[in-house]
Amino acid sequence: MEKTYNLIIVGAGMAGLCAAAEAAAQGAKVLVLEKEEEIGGSSLLSGRFMAFAETDLQKKEGIQDSTQLLVDDLLTVGQGKNEVSLIEAYGENQYETYQWLVQKGVQFHAVQAVSGHSVPRGHTITPSQAISTLYQYAVDTGNVTVELEASVKRLRKNSEGRISAVIFEKNGLEYIAKSDQGIILTSGGFSRSEELLEHFAPQLKGALRIGGKGNVGDGIKLAWEHGAWVRDLPYLQGTYGFHPTADGPRKNQAHVFYKGAIVINKQAKRFVNESISYKLIGTEALKQPEGITYQVWDQEIMKENVPGDALYDFEKLNELGLIDKANSLEELAELISVPKAQLVQTVDEYNQDILAGGDKEFGRTTLTHTFGKPKTICRAPFYAMRTTVAMLATYAGLAVNEGAQVLNPFHEPIPGLFAAGEIVGGFHGAGYMTGSSLGKAAIFGRIAAQTALKTEITL
Ligand SMILES: Cc1cc2nc3c(=O)[nH]c(=O)nc-3n(C[C@H](O)[C@H](O)[C@H](O)COP(=O)(O)OP(=O)(O)OC[C@H]3O[C@@H](n4cnc5c(N)ncnc54)[C@H](O)[C@@H]3O)c2cc1C
Repeated sequence: MEKTYNLIIVGAGMAGLCAAAEAAAQGAKVLVLEKEEEIGGSSLLSGRFMAFAETDLQKKEGIQDSTQLLVDDLLTVGQGKNEVSLIEAYGENQYETYQWLVQKGVQFHAVQAVSGHSVPRGHTITPSQAISTLYQYAVDTGNVTVELEASVKRLRKNSEGRISAVIFEKNGLEYIAKSDQGIILTSGGFSRSEELLEHFAPQLKGALRIGGKGNVGDGIKLAWEHGAWVRDLPYLQGTYGFHPTADGPRKNQAHVFYKGAIVINKQAKRFVNESISYKLIGTEALKQPEGITYQVWDQEIMKENVPGDALYDFEKLNELGLIDKANSLEELAELISVPKAQLVQTVDEYNQDILAGGDKEFGRTTLTHTFGKPKTICRAPFYAMRTTVAMLATYAGLAVNEGAQVLNPFHEPIPGLFAAGEIVGGFHGAGYMTGSSLGKAAIFGRIAAQTALKTEITL
């Protein structure tokens, strides 16, 4: 039997659940369709940073920040290729969305310096806590129905040309559900789609595939069929920092380079300024001989270990046997099979440059982005972690306006169709700033619901 809802939301990650919670609070009847047997998608696997400015947590740490600085950073990292209206919408809604999340029960623990930000701005969440809290809030309103293992296969228009129904499959059966206010695509990116990655980013062939199991670009294809335009495909990049054993739930990831490690290739040579975006480091890493690279650091940097942190718990990776440790650089070179003399020379030259005030070879003057001072690597024991690139999020996809309406190639909204989260393109432009993907999922998930519910319907 066909049922009609006010809104249908495709995908139950951060964006879908924020859209559902927002709509439910306004009294709308909502159907959330999630293809997998559990909710959460990539949001559940995420490194847990959300980019917000002017928050209580920052103020507690004495961090001076402003919405304008956050907006400027997003545009700088995106190299001016981002859609300014989307960045402005992020700025206008970021603080209110932070407070909204807190009010819904999402817990923020701390603020950290993360890639692309002028000041520490990575607000940490526990993804499972955030996802289950938003889900529970939405369901407890009594207005939201969540169907698991319900995969949306096609979108359908009504006789006026408005997107108004989905065809979905559950338990081998096909169903139709109708919506009178709109359909919101929050089905994530395509980091698990060999087909789309081979087509749009063949340069990422050697990268690991990490991300929600269901993130194969379904939503993008659903919208393409109805004339959606796409943005940011030329800027698809992998993420540097994973041990080759990483898969998804097992992240095996460390950003020691943002605490002072250098990054070398199989010839024991540096090839990049380690303070730049890990996306850009990833692009360079894939060009190295056999794609093999290592992070190398010393005991002083090892002290920066943050137990339990997704990116900075180096001791845990050590305990897992994923880090090589040696009392001299020569011994370390032997352990990781790189030329001994070259490793010693690379580290010596780097140390001399840092002591003299700046790295001459690649211009490193900070730890991450504009933050922190690089350190010499001279105190034994020395450490190395084989590190590779993973495709964990695509950040390229459907063109939308600041109201989260999906646009056609002529920048016109496709009636009835909305999108938010990783499925959207045009927001990040040429570079991704840490924490802004979960941030934009929450912000634009809510905006999509708000726009859909106030859009006048002519059924
Ligand atoms: C390892 C890792 C670390 C990351 N770290 C960070 C970080 O620290 N900060 C940050 O900002 N970003 C981070 N990201 C990126 C970020 O997690 C994602 O971009 C974001 O969570 C996407 O949220 P979303 O709601 O758009 O999609 P998702 O959370 O992926 O949810 C999409 C959902 O849609 C479902 N779906 C797909 N197709 C269909 C269909 N046809 N029918 C029904 N359902 C469907 C999927 O199964 C999935 O559950 C990270 C990503 C990964 C993988």
